[in-house]
Amino acid sequence: MRHINVPPDNHVKVLGGQGWIGLIDHLGSESTVVNAARVSFGKMKDEMDDRDVGLLNYLIENRHTSPLEHVVFTFSVHCPLFVRGQWHRHRTWSYNEISRRYTEVDLEFYTPPEIREQAEVNRQASVESAADHSAEIAKIKRHNEDSLEIYNELLDAGVCREQARGVLPQNMMVTFWATVDLSNLIHFFDLRDSEHAQWEIREYAKAIKKLVAPLVPNVMDCVERLSKK
Ligand SMILES: Cc1cc2nc3c(=O)[nH]c(=O)nc-3n(C[C@H](O)[C@H](O)[C@H](O)COP(=O)(O)OP(=O)(O)OC[C@H]3O[C@@H](n4cnc5c(N)ncnc54)[C@H](O)[C@@H]3O)c2cc1C
Repeated sequence: MRHINVPPDNHVKVLGGQGWIGLIDHLGSESTVVNAARVSFGKMKDEMDDRDVGLLNYLIENRHTSPLEHVVFTFSVHCPLFVRGQWHRHRTWSYNEISRRYTEVDLEFYTPPEIREQAEVNRQASVESAADHSAEIAKIKRHNEDSLEIYNELLDAGVCREQARGVLPQNMMVTFWATVDLSNLIHFFDLRDSEHAQWEIREYAKAIKKLVAPLVPNVMDCVERLSKK
């Protein structure tokens, strides 16, 4: 048995190496998508050809989404709690996560590799900073460490894990499994590999693109083409 905090072999590191996402399993292929689309005609094929690639593009461009739902991916995600919060708003995914009611081992915290400044126009957004923010990065790291110390003190004093975890910060790293079909994954790319999304979750969306591109290359070409329009 291995610990869930260990990335699977096929994974991509993000957030300066502090986070990762790995592909655990997948079901179906591009051929599954075109065959699902052809079920209406009572026909199926084993090999993909150029006409099938054309059909794939047509389905994605015209949001004929149901054939894409027959392809499914399961990922293992290691990310900060605040990224988990954004991710779990996507209700079409299925999730399972390590419970901090069960275990207090392997606690880790994210320290941003770079500090961004508050954007003035868009109140939700941030902008790159040219200033030296090493003191602020050190302050975040110190807060992470202090939180862990208080958490351990609470446990030592007999406080239960489910209450003690309340002092752990948003930068705590969590690990969860996430399963999604290809149609809803493309929707996730639209929203989260976007300049409107926070840099951290965008890193994960880009990493997923790298993981699935070898499995659904024509789909990903189409997604990239449409994202540039
Ligand atoms: C840049 C950005 C900023 C955001 N800011 C905020 C914010 O400030 N506050 C906040 O609360 N959220 C915010 N969100 C989260 C956002 O509102 C969505 O909850 C999140 O993006 C998930 O999108 P979704 O519902 O389309 O995805 P999913 O939940 O995966 O759903 C996919 C699609 O399925 C359909 N669907 C799913 N569930 C239902 C349902 N119950 N009823 C009808 N149709 C359904 C919809 O068509 C939906 O688009 C933000 C998201 C982004 C990308």
